[in-house]
Amino acid sequence: MPAWSRPSAASLIWLAALLGPTHAQGQPFAADPAPADYIRRSGDAALIPNGHLALDGHAEVCGQSVTVLDPRLNDYAAAFPRFIVLNPSLFAKVATPVKLWIYGHECGHVSGLRDEAQADCFGVARGLREGWLTPQGLDQICAFIGIAQPDAAHFAGPERCALMRACYAKNAKR
Ligand SMILES: [Zn+2]
Repeated sequence: MPAWSRPSAASLIWLAALLGPTHAQGQPFAADPAPADYIRRSGDAALIPNGHLALDGHAEVCGQSVTVLDPRLNDYAAAFPRFIVLNPSLFAKVATPVKLWIYGHECGHVSGLRDEAQADCFGVARGLREGWLTPQGLDQICAFIGIAQPDAAHFAGPERCALMRACYAKNAKR
């Protein structure tokens, strides 16, 4: 996905299994690599065991998924069937709710959601359930994706935001 290779576009998050992810080094991965294979290939990635991930002090878990921190990933995050990849260099630049929502979005993919809008809503619902997502946090997420360009899998930022606001309203009532 060349259009996603520039983090400044905030295009974020590919659906790895569907789109055939490529690492920054350009070699495509198999659809279902083991975390160790990914780490061996990428060079300076690190494995965070399940249950050991903390994002700005928030412990985050997604089923049995481990997390790989890869500062050379060409996006903020990516999902593989068995693990989630986060780019710690890019994560350092975004607000806490944005970090947690990105992780939640990828967790949606790992949990079986292929649709990007559904993964967006999954992250929002997770934030409400876990108590870290406020209306202000949702505004930060919308600002973050606001400049994202649409592509084959993603709506444009404003449309994603509108869908997430609807998702928030629906899940906040529960
Ligand atoms: Zn996605």
